[in-house]
Amino acid sequence: MEEKAGLKIRIFGDPVLRKKAKPVRKITGDYKDILSEMARLMYDSAGIGLAAPQVGVSEALIVVDIGSGLYKLINPRVAKKEGSQAMEEGCLSVPGVCIKIKRAKNILVEAQDEEGKSIKIEASGLLACVFQHEIDHLKGRLIPDYASFIQRIKINRRLEKFNQKAEDERLSESKTQSCQLQL
Ligand code: ZN
Repeated sequence: MEEKAGLKIRIFGDPVLRKKAKPVRKITGDYKDILSEMARLMYDSAGIGLAAPQVGVSEALIVVDIGSGLYKLINPRVAKKEGSQAMEEGCLSVPGVCIKIKRAKNILVEAQDEEGKSIKIEASGLLACVFQHEIDHLKGRLIPDYASFIQRIKINRRLEKFNQKAEDERLSESKTQSCQLQL
């Protein structure tokens, strides 16, 4: 188990965001604490989803709340997908960037809850988009990976500048996001 005190959102360039998250084998109370802390950070950052690698914890945990209730999931995976849709997505770990991404429209997510019980969630539209974005994080996949080559160069330049800024400046900048969906 990694350090859980003082979790904070990791920004593009941090290697933990590219690491494949480890599946959780034994569900203990520690995971409950991390999931609660992740939910708090998500709400504080006005996000609607957050994955553990985004707070420096390389384990398969996500939280999602699009306004219809909080999901805290362990070892989530997309078991079925169908149809397609494209939404403009932002990411709390990739500040100031908004990319239109094509994903499945209807999905079935299989996961465990914080008690270790197996659950299945049918999701469509925005909820399906958010689950797919967060599960991508567990594979080390980030929204710039969906961008065109030219777009990626621009994103890299912007993020390089962002990473050179002072902490408080970064915080205020990431709070004035241009993208509506912050995941
Ligand atoms: Zn994200």
